[in-house]
Amino acid sequence: MGLDCYTYRMSHSSQLLELQQEIISKQICSELADQASQLVMGDGNENADIVFIGEAPGKKEDETGLPFVGASGRFLNQMLEVAEMSREDVYITNIVKYRPPDNRDPSVEEKREFWPYLMRQLGIIDPKVVITLGRHSMECFMPGAKISERHGVAKKITYQDHEFLLIPLYHPAAALYNGSMRQTLIDDFVAAKALADAEK
Ligand code: URA
Repeated sequence: MGLDCYTYRMSHSSQLLELQQEIISKQICSELADQASQLVMGDGNENADIVFIGEAPGKKEDETGLPFVGASGRFLNQMLEVAEMSREDVYITNIVKYRPPDNRDPSVEEKREFWPYLMRQLGIIDPKVVITLGRHSMECFMPGAKISERHGVAKKITYQDHEFLLIPLYHPAAALYNGSMRQTLIDDFVAAKALADAEK
């Protein structure tokens, strides 16, 4: 039995676990790893049609090992509910998988180091739709794009033998600091769900 056949037979869950072990053993972003409690790989349905990608874990995520469980996570859960999605149906991850100190933004180098692993993670899950949350994760797929112009606008992305619909949205934290952003996020989440349903 060849390796390809073996890999094919492995569940998404085992493949994601192997990828996680590889990130740790190759010491990706070792400075971040040294000060973080743990790597936050992702959460949800590993066969999901929709994957959400945030920026990096915060304090609560670092403590629990799960993405989006703090204040932004509570707001994300509300948005999912309004758009008739649940965390069990979708998969949620971040570009950078260790908490940056003092919750600073992930750096360009950190995003670049994690990028091939994020793409392999997407390759394993093989979703139909990828929803980026915030400017940092959008920029990885669409360098130079402005989130104020591109939020809610879908774009087909082809990567190796994978194809998915990319939908950039504002980060849920934006609504925590700017009340008027809440309605924009609600409208975008509902529209993104309709686009995702049309992909099925
Ligand atoms: N913000 C993110 O971008 N990701 C998380 O996991 C939590 C907050």
